[in-house]
Amino acid sequence: MSALSEFDIIRVYFQKNTVKRGDVVLGIGDDAALLQCAPDQLLVAATDTLIENVHFPKETRAEDIAYKALAVNLSDLAAMGAEPLWFLLALTLPTADARWLEAFSQGLFELARPYDLQLAGGDTTRGPLSITIQVLGRVPSQQALLRSGAQSGDKIYVSGTLGDAGLGLKLCQRGIKLPEEAGQFFLERLHRPQPQIQLGLLLRGGANSAIDLSDGLVADLGHLLTSSQVGARIEVNQLPLSPHLKAALPLEEAQGLALHAGDDYELCFTVPEKEETRLLRQIHAAGFSCTAIGEIRETQGLELVGYSRPLVQAGYRHFP
Ligand code: ADP
Ligand code: MG
Repeated sequence: MSALSEFDIIRVYFQKNTVKRGDVVLGIGDDAALLQCAPDQLLVAATDTLIENVHFPKETRAEDIAYKALAVNLSDLAAMGAEPLWFLLALTLPTADARWLEAFSQGLFELARPYDLQLAGGDTTRGPLSITIQVLGRVPSQQALLRSGAQSGDKIYVSGTLGDAGLGLKLCQRGIKLPEEAGQFFLERLHRPQPQIQLGLLLRGGANSAIDLSDGLVADLGHLLTSSQVGARIEVNQLPLSPHLKAALPLEEAQGLALHAGDDYELCFTVPEKEETRLLRQIHAAGFSCTAIGEIRETQGLELVGYSRPLVQAGYRHFP
């Protein structure tokens, strides 16, 4: 097969496959995209880079890399309560490998399509493998969920279960194989995080604050507490653990992953008492599982109740 130029790459793997939205006045093909914004809404923008051996192990499948690169960006929009609309892709590749690109674009659009998310542009360069995606979305003015809104007395909730991706990463790094179903579950949780977009939309106008869990609960909740200038008390035995995680590890180790391991991409949010009953009813009616894990309080700092191991404050640091 003849070599692919960057123009072939863009046309064959990205331009052809993307969703087409009416509010993209001009998409891939000119110097920049033209996007129609709604007048009474705020444009919400987030970008995240994935680098080989930092954010994913070298052997990760191309479709999983693409899926995760988009998922982690969507997760940031979910945490703002935003509706995603468009994205841009800056792709740096060591070689133009058709099989790799085919798998990559398949993983990318597998996640983009159900959200009706259009790839509106990007950049294609040669170098060590790195994927930067920028997602753009919208939220009605005044309704965005911020890290800074938590109030003393709010209940703290998390979606889904915590720690599963952390064990998935350990399995990858150590080349450990678990029995078929459990092993598959943890790797899926690591490679295919599910951005909580629908939950984020539901939390608008009910939650006081939100953050997505990329670096682990302690680190990310720490950011929320700092932004809101409050503290929190977490009941460690309330942390939602999957049946698979409970079966794979002693309880304290599973809780350790739930507290400190990254990559879960669940939402952590705080709810004022007066909204709690109504919001929780909506959340459950929509089929989401969310668990109360503690409470916001005025005294700063994070107290873990029912956990004897030392607290590790920092999440992953690129520049320690
Ligand atoms: P320029 O030199 O003006 O930056 P490019 O050749 O980089 O032009 O890009 C040409 C068009 O292709 C632009 O519309 C750009 O947004 C789009 N594009 C480039 N790379 C990608 C990519 N990886 N995914 C999607 N669109 C891309
Ligand atoms: Mg360019």
